[in-house]
Amino acid sequence: MTSPATDAAGAPDFPEYAPVPAIAKGAALNEHGYHVWQVERNLYAVTDNVYMSAFLTTPDGVVIFDAPPNIGHNIRRAVDEITAATGLTNQVTHMVYSHHHSDHQGASSLFGGDIVRIGHEETRRLLLRDNDPARPVPDVTFSDSYTLETGGERIELAWHGPNHSPDNIYIHFPDHDTLMFIDVVNAGWIPIYNLNLSDDVIGYTGAPAIALDYPWTHLISGHLGRVATREDVAMHQQYIADIEASSREALASVNPGPLFGHYGENVWAGVSAYLDAVTEHAAAPIIAKYTGVLGGADIEVYTRTTTFAIMQSIRLDRGPSGPVHP
Ligand SMILES: [Zn+2]
Repeated sequence: MTSPATDAAGAPDFPEYAPVPAIAKGAALNEHGYHVWQVERNLYAVTDNVYMSAFLTTPDGVVIFDAPPNIGHNIRRAVDEITAATGLTNQVTHMVYSHHHSDHQGASSLFGGDIVRIGHEETRRLLLRDNDPARPVPDVTFSDSYTLETGGERIELAWHGPNHSPDNIYIHFPDHDTLMFIDVVNAGWIPIYNLNLSDDVIGYTGAPAIALDYPWTHLISGHLGRVATREDVAMHQQYIADIEASSREALASVNPGPLFGHYGENVWAGVSAYLDAVTEHAAAPIIAKYTGVLGGADIEVYTRTTTFAIMQSIRLDRGPSGPVHP
């Protein structure tokens, strides 16, 4: 690893940011570095203020929803803490995968081989491809929807197309007033780079409306320190809609002619100058609007890379990519 750049006095030259807005504040962590709380009845969430997973305690055993390695062994500690307090078994019987990504499932193998793992059929395919012993492939798979019934509880899993990843599913707890949907909306924060490192721009930007079609009060969204509300989803949608509008305006107003003219035969330099100018023009008002409103908004590279991805999707998916040569 390299060390951060230093200033003239030799002190680390870390960028400065505005204070985190109140809406983005995390939970108070215990001495192990986690916080676990009751979302609704016997459904609990656990966070380290960066990642979040969930579990359901029942008389027949515990169902875990995602096992981020960042939380790691603290998932077990959180389950033990809650089941000891409620007098229920701490035996884990099932694990549900929201999607295949290692940063959400890389602690799955800590729970051994003697549990039932459930995931989308594409999750299984991708995990077979990735061949990671930390993420055992799901034994039970589905294509469109699956109902898990265990311990007197019901959980509805559904796949509504690719979004953040090809296999990212909606996990609805109809009797807990809760939806779990990972890596799209961050409660109180903007997405990190490139729409939260997402594969499918159209799928990602359309997913929050699908999430809102479900009845729920609590959204477990996979990151940061609190469960999201419907208002958090609406703020996220507004942020994305603002980027879309700003990108369209920038595409219509930045003139590529002088940029390509300047670089002549180095056409790739012209492409870079043009797309960078459109991105900067589109992102600047969004960064200004959301700084102090949503966490991370003044970490400008996040909004710039998300804007670049949305602007490219406007050109390439929706079209037109540019004027037709006369
Ligand atoms: Zn992911």
